[in-house]
Amino acid sequence: MTARVGMGFDVHPFVDDPERTLVLGGVALSGERPLAGHSDADVVAHAVADAVLGAAGLGDLGEHFPDTDPAWRGADSMRLLASSVELVRAEGWAVANVDCSVVLEAPRLKAHRRAMQERLSEVVGAPVSVKAKRAEGLGSLGRGEGIACWAVALLER
Ligand SMILES: [Zn+2]
Repeated sequence: MTARVGMGFDVHPFVDDPERTLVLGGVALSGERPLAGHSDADVVAHAVADAVLGAAGLGDLGEHFPDTDPAWRGADSMRLLASSVELVRAEGWAVANVDCSVVLEAPRLKAHRRAMQERLSEVVGAPVSVKAKRAEGLGSLGRGEGIACWAVALLER
């Protein structure tokens, strides 16, 4: 058996836009400050997709679904993640697991972590774990200007 790892990173700034909803790992957190982005700005889905694509040597999300393409405006990032997993499967890989660290000051993810993991695992077809960390006041993330996510994916074939 061959195994490969990939890592993904993404960051989006917060925006005050009443038209947008904060979406993390496919879970809508209505009433929370949303993130800016061309798609739904699901920073967790984007980092997971980059980790999965990277592990298979298939580049990154932006290459496959460019943010200059109007087709992806306001896109549901879980669909982009599902398409990324399909690309990786087409190369003969199976996702073994994914682990994510979401770095944010707010909102608190404790109440949403389980739903995020379930939704992500369903789309990825393998266990996905989500951990939340604070930046302890350091830098832009510490000042609560946005949310970042790191993800690691293991593929097998
Ligand atoms: Zn993104």
